[in-house]
Amino acid sequence: VHGLRRDLARLLGADALVPDEELAEYRHDGTIQRGLSGEPDAVVRPGSGEGVAAALRWCYERGVAIVPRAGGTGLAGGAVPAGGGVVVSVERLARVTALDPGLWRMSTGAGVRTADVARLARESGLLFPPDPGAAEQSRIGGNVATNAGGPHAFGRGRTGAFVTGLEAALAPGELARVGGEGRRDAAGYDLVGLMVGSEGTLGIVTAVDLRLVPAPSAAAALAAFLRDPAGGQRALLAILGSGVRPAVLDFLDARAFAAAAGAFPADPPAGFAGGMALLLEVEGSEQEVERQRGELQDALADADPILVQELPGPALWRWRDGLNGAVAAVRGGKVSEDICVPPERLADALDGIRALGAELELPACAWGHAGDGIVHASFMIDPADAGERQRGSAAGERSLALALRLGGSITGEHGVGLVKRALLGAQWDAATLSAHRRIKQALDPKGLLNPGKKEPPGRPQPAAASVVGSEEANGTHVAPA
Ligand SMILES: Cc1cc2nc3c(=O)[nH]c(=O)nc-3n(C[C@H](O)[C@H](O)[C@H](O)COP(=O)(O)OP(=O)(O)OC[C@H]3O[C@@H](n4cnc5c(N)ncnc54)[C@H](O)[C@@H]3O)c2cc1C
Repeated sequence: VHGLRRDLARLLGADALVPDEELAEYRHDGTIQRGLSGEPDAVVRPGSGEGVAAALRWCYERGVAIVPRAGGTGLAGGAVPAGGGVVVSVERLARVTALDPGLWRMSTGAGVRTADVARLARESGLLFPPDPGAAEQSRIGGNVATNAGGPHAFGRGRTGAFVTGLEAALAPGELARVGGEGRRDAAGYDLVGLMVGSEGTLGIVTAVDLRLVPAPSAAAALAAFLRDPAGGQRALLAILGSGVRPAVLDFLDARAFAAAAGAFPADPPAGFAGGMALLLEVEGSEQEVERQRGELQDALADADPILVQELPGPALWRWRDGLNGAVAAVRGGKVSEDICVPPERLADALDGIRALGAELELPACAWGHAGDGIVHASFMIDPADAGERQRGSAAGERSLALALRLGGSITGEHGVGLVKRALLGAQWDAATLSAHRRIKQALDPKGLLNPGKKEPPGRPQPAAASVVGSEEANGTHVAPA
């Protein structure tokens, strides 16, 4: 290990090698509560795209695993060096290289923090539309690699929708540039699209060209309370059928609501126990907002709501940000998954989650992005109770199977990483699996880029990277209060 570190320091410069006393933070990512960790052989943070490519080349020549990393907030264990290898962090690629407000575009290194991209856009009267939850810590390269979304992704789109080009270090160690500041590139295969959501398994994104949009001048937020999941489902379908496209179309069930009811920025209605709430926001010009609000209120009225309230957006979204922690606080911990179901099966998903909770004797609740069918299936546990931890894991795992039965996906938001790989084989047919493997083989013939992540178990692993069994990792997302 010391020889490896010395050689990398010589290759990339001493300042690119993360010293021993700082290694701890690179052992984990946002799955730290799940107990996932790894022991990197070395962590490097090159100061340029060429440096990233050089690190990749060095590893590739020697058969050493490479674990790309940006902000380390991922919730799938993608940046965890579970089988050792060299963590290549893009954190020092933190320069904004171009900002052209008049042309609605920005180019940045992959290590620029998400919140800084959003802030710079805002200060120019523009909007960088994605709003993932950990924006102060996550970095744009990580957002691209996970195609990060957020509450506003329903109406605005996820990160990939705003990437017009990128630079990436590809195996065996060279920089490639695809797309660019032009808005369209029909010349080749969609290599930008291939890198988006690839979770560090196909290359290392070193720079990104982003499309910004003019900031909306007005917005209005609504909370609608429905009597039961079936009513919530009716309201959701009425909204989708109305032709209005809200920026946010989120939901939460009554149990999730109850966990944070005290801080809700208005008086919640009586008679909501057992119900479902929808949280919406429309944005645009004053007239557009006025029209969309009216059409949404009409659509909601058809579903016979208990109450529809207009609320100040910032207060509502601040409250919504705290929901995850509030649910975890109810019993001290929780097991949560990010399943996705077709929107017309949302009520079935909620019934299934409640039934799982009842069967495994754990209080269950759910919330998420209703418009996209993303459901945070959550089971509240006492983390000190081994039996509850085990039952929570079982419930989480069975919620993934529920998503597949309903025609959905085991992950709608956070990706596969290490934690969901065991179930990929159940989601994909043989031809899909084979297509994924052939793409991986073409771009990473030695299987050294983030080995074991985003692929079902069974692929031969390189000797340098043995990967922790995902059975262990699955569904044990125990978040403390
Ligand atoms: C409190 C909290 C709230 C969250 N809310 C949301 C949310 O609303 N929506 C959402 O989608 N996610 C959310 N997440 C998950 C996480 O923030 C996102 O997945 C985010 O995009 C990860 O970015 P990162 O920079 O932290 O990446 P990392 O965690 O460092 O890496 C994530 C994955 O991308 C790979 N990777 C990182 N950088 C590169 C690169 N330059 N090139 C190639 N591969 C790379 C890694 O190997 C890993 O597989 C949340 C997480 C937390 C902790």
